[in-house]
Amino acid sequence: MLEFRAALVFDDNLRAQANAAGRNYWPVYYREILNRMGLPYSVLGPEELTADGLAQYRILLLPPLPEGHLTDAQAQALSEWVTAGGLLLGFATPGLDELFGISVESVIEQVGDEFTPSACIRLADAEWGASLLPAYERDAAMPVLAPVQRLQAPQGRELARLLSFFEQDLHQPAVTYRTVGNGAACYWAFDLAQCTWAMQQGRPVYEDYDGDNSLRTMDQITTRPWEANVPYADLMMFALRRIIAEHGGVFLHQLPPAADGSVPDAVFHWGGDDEGATEVQIPAAEFMVEMGLPYHINIMQTPVPVHTLSAEKFNRLKQLGCETSIHFNFTTAGQQPYRITRQDLADQLDAYFGAYGEVPVCTVFHCMTWTGWAEPARWLAELGMKGDNNRAHWRYPPSNPVNKCNFAFGTCYPFHYYDDCSEDNRRIDFTSAPVTAYECGYIRENSEFSQLHRAIELASFWNLTMNLFFHPIRLTEPAPQAAVREALAYMQKLGMNPLHFATDQMCLWWHERAASAIEAVERDEEQVTVRTRTDYPAGCIIQLLWPEGEPGSVEINGVPAQYVLREQHNARWLYVAMPTGQAEAVVRL
Ligand SMILES: [Zn+2]
Repeated sequence: MLEFRAALVFDDNLRAQANAAGRNYWPVYYREILNRMGLPYSVLGPEELTADGLAQYRILLLPPLPEGHLTDAQAQALSEWVTAGGLLLGFATPGLDELFGISVESVIEQVGDEFTPSACIRLADAEWGASLLPAYERDAAMPVLAPVQRLQAPQGRELARLLSFFEQDLHQPAVTYRTVGNGAACYWAFDLAQCTWAMQQGRPVYEDYDGDNSLRTMDQITTRPWEANVPYADLMMFALRRIIAEHGGVFLHQLPPAADGSVPDAVFHWGGDDEGATEVQIPAAEFMVEMGLPYHINIMQTPVPVHTLSAEKFNRLKQLGCETSIHFNFTTAGQQPYRITRQDLADQLDAYFGAYGEVPVCTVFHCMTWTGWAEPARWLAELGMKGDNNRAHWRYPPSNPVNKCNFAFGTCYPFHYYDDCSEDNRRIDFTSAPVTAYECGYIRENSEFSQLHRAIELASFWNLTMNLFFHPIRLTEPAPQAAVREALAYMQKLGMNPLHFATDQMCLWWHERAASAIEAVERDEEQVTVRTRTDYPAGCIIQLLWPEGEPGSVEINGVPAQYVLREQHNARWLYVAMPTGQAEAVVRL
C-alpha cells in the first residue's frame, strides 16, 4: 500500500525578506488555495528538495522563486523524481525550463499596480478544462492578476490559452502539461497565488476608485471590466484540482454532508440587512419559517449607537430560529467618502452587546463600506467576530445591483483573509463569504426569474456555496416572496439535494472545514484508503476521480457505506460522506 502525499515548497525567509522590504509575498496564498481545494499537503523547505526528501511525495507544487534560487543538484533531483512518477506543478518558476518543456519569450507586465489584470486565459483543453464551464460559457476569458510569461511549449498539451487584455488570441499556452517518463510536469505561466489573492481579497481601498463618492468593497473589484458571469478564481482552482486528481489526488469537498448523511448538490445561504427598520424583521423571519428555510438578519443602529429593534423583538427572532447579527453603520453620522476605524467597530459592537447581550458571528457593513485591505477583517477578528458577507457581486454602477448573480471577487466559496506585509502576510482567523446572488427573481413589483434560475443552475453545476441575499423588508413584499418560493420549486424541479444555511452557519462551516483534514491517503491497484478528521457534527465529504464502473465496495470504519458517483465536467467524481471525529474509508475497485 503506497502512501499518497502532496507537498508545497515554501521558503519563509523569502517571505520575511519581501515583507521587510514592504512587499506582499504572494506565494503565501498557495496554502489558501490548497486548503480551499481540500488537498492535504506538507510544506517543504528548499533544502528538502533532495532525492530522499522528494521520494515520499507524489505531487509537488513549486511556486515562483528568485532566479537562480534552485541549485543544479535540486533541479537534477526534481527531474529524476518526475521521471520516476511525480507530478510537478510550476507557477512561473524559473530554472526548470527543460523539465517543463518551455521557453519564456517575454513577460506581459501588469500596467499600474499588482491588482491590475495583465492578460486573460481561456480553458482550452476539451477533456480537462473546457468541460469545467457550462456550454454557453465555454469561451469565457478569465483575467489574470499577475505578470504573465509568453511561452513556447511545443511538446506540451495546452490546458489553457493565453489571450491579451483585449482577449486577442496570442496563440501561446498559459498552462501547459507534459508527460515525462512515468510522471508529468505542468507549468502555469503566472503566479496563481497572486492572481487568486488579488482577485478574492481585491485591491486595497484608499480612494474612491469607481466614482460613487463612497469607499466600498465595490472599489476593491479587480475583475473589472469583465462581468464575472463565472467565478474565475474558482475555475482556475477547479482546473488545478482536475490535474492533481488525474494523478491520484483525494480532496476534502467544499460542501458538508446534510444532517441525514447525504451528499448535497449545493449549499444556499440566506441572509439580509434590516437597514434600521423596526417593522420588517418579524414578518420576514416568519415568512422564512413558513418556507422551511433558515434566515439571518443583520441589525443596524440608527443613529449609532441606538438600536431601534427592541430586545423583545430580538428575542422573538431567536424563537423563530432566525440568526441575528450586526449591520455596522458608517453613514448616518459620517461624511462620505468615509474611512472605517477600529474604534468605530469596537463602539458599535459594544452597543450591540449592550442591547442584546451577545457577540455576533458574521456581519455585513451598511452599503458594503470598506477601508484599506485586510484591516477591518483583522480588527473584527480581534474583537471576537468570525466573518463577513461584504464582498459585492457586481461593480458600480449601479449603486444597488439587484437581480444579479455574479462573481466579481472571482469566487462563490468563502475564503480566509490574509494580512498585509506589515503583519507578515499572516492568515487572519476571519472569513469572507461573498455576496453572489443579490435580490434575484424580481424587478420592482414583477417576477423575473432568469438570474435566480441561473444562480441555482450554476450552484448545482459546480457544487457551490451560493449566497441568496434578500433584505428583510423585501421578504414582506409579494414579488420577492414569490422569488423565494420559485427558488425552492426550481431546485425541486432540477431534482437537486440542496442544503440550506443561514449566514452564520455558512461562516462556521467554513472555519470547521479549514480545520478539518484528510490525514492520510493510501492507494494501490485494488483500493484507496482515506483517513479524515473533523469536528463538524455532520462530518465532511471526500471526493476523488473514479475511472469506470462502480466501486466494488465502499466501507467506512469497516461498515458498508453510501457513496455518490457523478458524471461531471467530463469526468466521474466519487463522493463519500465521512462521519464526525476520525474515520477511515476504504474504496475497493
Ligand atoms: Zn445597509
